[in-house]
Amino acid sequence: MNSFVTYSFVIPFMNEEAVLPALLERITALMDKIDGISEVVFVDDGSRDQSAVIVAEYTAQDPRIKMIRLSRNFGHQVAVTAGLNTVCGKAVIIMDADLQDPPEVVHDLIAKWQEGYEIVHAQRRAREGETRFKKFTASLYYRILSQLSSVEIPRDVGDFRLVDSKVIQAIKSMPERDRFLRGMFAWVGFRQTIVQFDRPERVAGETKYPFKKMLRLAMDGVVGFSDAPLRLALWLGALVSLGAMTYGAYIFAMALFTDELIDGWASTIVILSFLSGMNLLISGVIGLYVGRIHNESKQRPLYFVTESIGVAEVVQMPSS
Ligand code: UDP
Ligand code: MG
Repeated sequence: MNSFVTYSFVIPFMNEEAVLPALLERITALMDKIDGISEVVFVDDGSRDQSAVIVAEYTAQDPRIKMIRLSRNFGHQVAVTAGLNTVCGKAVIIMDADLQDPPEVVHDLIAKWQEGYEIVHAQRRAREGETRFKKFTASLYYRILSQLSSVEIPRDVGDFRLVDSKVIQAIKSMPERDRFLRGMFAWVGFRQTIVQFDRPERVAGETKYPFKKMLRLAMDGVVGFSDAPLRLALWLGALVSLGAMTYGAYIFAMALFTDELIDGWASTIVILSFLSGMNLLISGVIGLYVGRIHNESKQRPLYFVTESIGVAEVVQMPSS
């Protein structure tokens, strides 16, 4: 019934009461300005503060503002997925709630979409107010990931992007549980392009991506989009065995041709502990992949919705 909507915004939030009023003002102003009917779907990812109450007030005043509430905190990537399953626009724009993805950049994204691109990634040119550590690890990570992965995942691109409804269909057909959306969007193909922007500081509140969550997302990216770590075991194994054989030959030669006795204790301990370390490490790497299989095999739905406001029909993820 809402198929006349052109632009749908998807904005996930968790405990963002400090920024939501400012965001709602900016996003309504933006929707007034853009040419075409638009809607915004806020996804409450298990907030424990007043965030959902704030958004609910706005949904009562403006029918373009909608909200779905997840039954608990399922994580940012799942919250975005829930939003994607709910919207009905011809172009869908994914944004963070903290105004780090400036609404003004949306005009540039739309311009590219009108040129015919089906995915427009917003790439961070500069990042303000983020720690050196975060910038450094992020840039290193994107570099390593693009080396490891066979799909070209654009660098310094987060989840801020515009996608055509065709692409949304494609993403909906990918039911994987450990979701790394930026990789999935790169993987599906279609006509893709990049728009650059300077990433400002969070307007208020604190990051909801502590180091642990960031690490988990980073792991999902590597494990989900590369099998290089698995092959690493093969090469490391070959290399270590070759080393061991060479050393064995050396000891054998010493025993045959000289009277020298090679003192064994220290080297045995070092080699043994090195090899058991290696063994554990490689088992851990394999464990990461097995963990994903385990997660997939449970076939659980990705999320549950407890309440939806202004949304005609809530589409759950297909279970297979
Ligand atoms: N977020 C979410 N669920 C979570 C963590 C974060 O919905 O479990 C939302 C958060 O409210 C924000 C967006 O995801 O709208 C990005 O989070 P944040 O700005 O904290 O990440 P950062 O920009 O620091 O990487
Ligand atoms: Mg942020």
